[in-house]
Amino acid sequence: MPTSLRDTLTRLPKVELHVHLEGTMLADTLSELARKNGVTPPAPLDEMYRYANLSGFLDVFWFVQSVLQTREDWAMLAYESVLQAASNGVIYREVFFTPARHLRSGMSLADIVAGVDDGMSAGERETGSETRMIYDIDRDFGPSVADEQLEMLLELRRRAAHGIDRVIGIGMDSTERGVDPSVFAPAYRAAKAAGLHRTGHQGEDSPAWAIEIALDVLGCERIDHGISVLEDAALVARLVDEQIPLTVCPTANVVINPDKCVSLDAHAYPAMRAAGLLATLNTDDPALVGLSLGAEYTNVANAYGYGLSTMVQIAHDGVTATWADDDDKRRMHAVIDEVSAELLHAG
Ligand SMILES: [Zn+2]
Repeated sequence: MPTSLRDTLTRLPKVELHVHLEGTMLADTLSELARKNGVTPPAPLDEMYRYANLSGFLDVFWFVQSVLQTREDWAMLAYESVLQAASNGVIYREVFFTPARHLRSGMSLADIVAGVDDGMSAGERETGSETRMIYDIDRDFGPSVADEQLEMLLELRRRAAHGIDRVIGIGMDSTERGVDPSVFAPAYRAAKAAGLHRTGHQGEDSPAWAIEIALDVLGCERIDHGISVLEDAALVARLVDEQIPLTVCPTANVVINPDKCVSLDAHAYPAMRAAGLLATLNTDDPALVGLSLGAEYTNVANAYGYGLSTMVQIAHDGVTATWADDDDKRRMHAVIDEVSAELLHAG
């Protein structure tokens, strides 16, 4: 019996580098945590994951964040997230969490990190799918809150708090428009000095110069989204030459912000790949978008006519773009080679 493309691409070993932990919360878990914590939803719970545009999506995202109130809540979310990823052939992820609102309302970062670590450890033991965390700055809160809250993270590192080794880098998300990324330079300098990796959401809703600032002023090692790079041929040439990774999320862009990106056909992803950019493939907020990484690989293969060998190359590019050490990268490349050879043979 022929295997479907979706089955094949789900089984293909993959990594994921642009996925928000809060955006992996299943609708049932959202209902359960909202009831447990007495949080009143702004709409009927079974309609919560329906929204028309970016501002509707952000309302949902903030509601999802609001139901996470204890270490155990974060642990439950993190555990379920690993299981979903593993069932999609994900062997390794670097996952964002954005705790600014929780820290503002008095929750301790130590509890959040410990809870996420508890859940991820349990998920890893069960599935073998590994996860690291990226602490995301919420740009909406401004640079002084970013500095203050990052110091909490660095303090956890100094005292070797439970789970802190799992946090290997920082990023920043939320509003891009009208924000000069260079105001976050002090936080990025402090993160670099502490030995943390750096990335940042840029170029989804901001021009190419904002990507350049993220690289040159913030010292970002990769860029999340990065679509507007195509506006600047010299910047494209530089990113190709230096193989600076871009973590791209085509279907999420279409679902979350249809005003800006009307369809996969209109998305820049194939142009980015054709230009030689190290453009990886990711889901961003899979539960909120009704997506999985297996489905995203299938969407992209179908939309752009990519064959299995191209999809295997995209999986390898994901590994190249990780912050894993060289031995782990070699191991992951070998797993992809081995399984993809079986899949090509079966096909
Ligand atoms: Zn994102």
